[in-house]
Amino acid sequence: MDEKLRSGTAGPLAGMVVAVKDVLSMQGTKTTCGSAMLKEFVSIYDATVIERLRAADAVIIGKTNMDEFAMGSSGENSAYGPTLHPLDETKVPGGSSSGSCVAVAAGLSTVSLGTDTGGSIRQPAGFCGIVGLKPTYGRVSRYGLVAFASSFDQIGPFARTSRDAARVLQVIAGSDPKDATSAPVEVPDFLSLMNRDVKGLKIGLPKEYFSDALDAGIRSVLEKKIDALRNAGAVIVPVSLPHSEYTISTYYILATAEASSNLARYDGARYGYRSKNVKDLNGMYVHSRSEGFGSEVKRRIMLGTYVLSSGYYDAYYRKAQQVRRLIQNDFVNAFNSVDCIITPIAPTTAFGLGEKMEDPLQMYLNDIYTVSANLAGIPGISVPAGADVNGMPIGIQVLGKQFDEATILKVGDVIETVQ
Ligand code: GLN
Repeated sequence: MDEKLRSGTAGPLAGMVVAVKDVLSMQGTKTTCGSAMLKEFVSIYDATVIERLRAADAVIIGKTNMDEFAMGSSGENSAYGPTLHPLDETKVPGGSSSGSCVAVAAGLSTVSLGTDTGGSIRQPAGFCGIVGLKPTYGRVSRYGLVAFASSFDQIGPFARTSRDAARVLQVIAGSDPKDATSAPVEVPDFLSLMNRDVKGLKIGLPKEYFSDALDAGIRSVLEKKIDALRNAGAVIVPVSLPHSEYTISTYYILATAEASSNLARYDGARYGYRSKNVKDLNGMYVHSRSEGFGSEVKRRIMLGTYVLSSGYYDAYYRKAQQVRRLIQNDFVNAFNSVDCIITPIAPTTAFGLGEKMEDPLQMYLNDIYTVSANLAGIPGISVPAGADVNGMPIGIQVLGKQFDEATILKVGDVIETVQ
């Protein structure tokens, strides 16, 4: 790398140390997805994002712990043990990209890659006080990403600053013939658009996200940043996203339906764990899946299979698809009058290890501010905004129009610098 730097041939990420969520294929290395099912599984090819990082001369140092198959909001669902919060080991760091977030927050790597299906980059970034970016659906190729919910999953960076997040996005973004859902949309030069000028920029505040239910400490930290943006020349505009109350139920119906289909491939026959306790074909499926999957994954497969089953399909799956469209339309309408939208990242700061493990509904409710971006396919960034009375980080979320990561990166950069 020194040689390349001397001769001026080094790539844009030369020397940047990158950690990678263990859900991305890297040829010749294990890809466990945090699951006992894939404990010994070795990838036979590189994901497109890995290829692009290598071509940019990034230094990939290792794979990171995660909630099993990216299902979770706390990092506690890994078959390999929980990831701890770097500032307080009695707390969770958030999830599901728990290890990738902590690698950056604890200074083990400069940046990292995570995936975000319902908030798994933005929420841990908020809990740990770093930057996390979920690009627009289709902005980054998913080739080589082990699928959870294919119409929601996106790969994105964790970084200490919005500028570093932009540097990584610049390298991994762009269409890819190996992923038909990657969009043939031009990738702008993000860094050159981060000019710290927000004069006249219209920022929407959705009233549904700033209701009386919002924690007072989080509200006051967010309001300070919003005031600072106003002082810097931004125009703050109230907006409404009227279907917000349906986001959690819509997401957990559609994401589990897609997961139940995607995870059918772990059958003990083709790859991954096979039970020793096998007498016939059906027994191989039953025992391999019963022993290989953890309880949250099984819960999702059962929920997803239920909402797709004949008789329930119309009541749940089809209805949720229709509501997804209404939620998408809410954003289209809001973006007719604003350039981006600011919301909280999570209802609380990092919660205690074990606190929500017995109550899946409480765990799911933690995603209330993040899942809408995945339902609508729009980009979102989490930027550090301050801390609560105990010093635990509070993040602020900026949502943008489809394929307009440039605006939310720019606003993120300003949020980092204004007081
Ligand atoms: N916490 C959400 C879930 O459990 C989101 C996970 C993710 O974005 N991968 O489904």
